[in-house]
Amino acid sequence: MIQLNDAGIDATASAKLLEYQNLVNGKATYAERVEEAKSKFKSYNRKGNATFDEVKKQLNVMCCGPERCNYCEDSKADEVEHIYPKDWYPDKCFVWGNYCYACGTCNGPKNNKYAIFKREDDTYLELIREKDATIVAPEDGDAVLINPRDENPLKFLFLDINRSFFFVPVEANTAEKDNVRATYTIKILGLNSRSYLVKARKLAFSNFRSRLSDYITHRDLGVDQNQLDEMIKNIKEEHHQTVWREMIRQRDHHPVLQNLFNRAPEATGWI
Ligand SMILES: [Zn+2]
Repeated sequence: MIQLNDAGIDATASAKLLEYQNLVNGKATYAERVEEAKSKFKSYNRKGNATFDEVKKQLNVMCCGPERCNYCEDSKADEVEHIYPKDWYPDKCFVWGNYCYACGTCNGPKNNKYAIFKREDDTYLELIREKDATIVAPEDGDAVLINPRDENPLKFLFLDINRSFFFVPVEANTAEKDNVRATYTIKILGLNSRSYLVKARKLAFSNFRSRLSDYITHRDLGVDQNQLDEMIKNIKEEHHQTVWREMIRQRDHHPVLQNLFNRAPEATGWI
């Protein structure tokens, strides 16, 4: 998972989202706001709704790779995902900055799972609402789930490209909360528990390495810049951009990568 650059939405869509949000905020109680958020999102988030067509268009621009899910980077992104779930945070239901593009396989299990840090220590409280329970607002607390719209996930997550191709917390992080956030995010998004994802990251590693090697060969043969630009573009648009970022970050600990990047230092800027 990489940090998303905000592509923005046009002024009309922006005004319309605010209008939708005001309908939610105008309800008297928290329970009514939750209900309104869910029902309005369901009715507006449809093909042909100009606002959500624009939202999806721009979320697509922000995707890493061709319409790839922002969480797994593997499957087609086709669902507008609320990073802060609308079931808990109806005040963020129609907030552009709370959206990312996800696939159903990631979005389904994540659903309205969320957790917030307790005030007194580094442990967290999972937000759980039993069926038919009274709808009450969560207490205030910092989010545990890493938010790719607001922060760089790779400050917390480290992908082992040497062996396992599993995500682990960044070892150098000494703050317990950072490790807790990494572990929680890996678990909730199923980043390690889906074996096909692990395998796909491993294949992506090999693919990126070959593409970089191929680029160096072509560059040294003196092919024209347009052809090289196309090769660079293909690397930047390939699935599993996290793998590529990690190859850049970890290049000095991996002899083959070190050699390739030493021969093509310009590649460290292809992000
Ligand atoms: Zn996904």
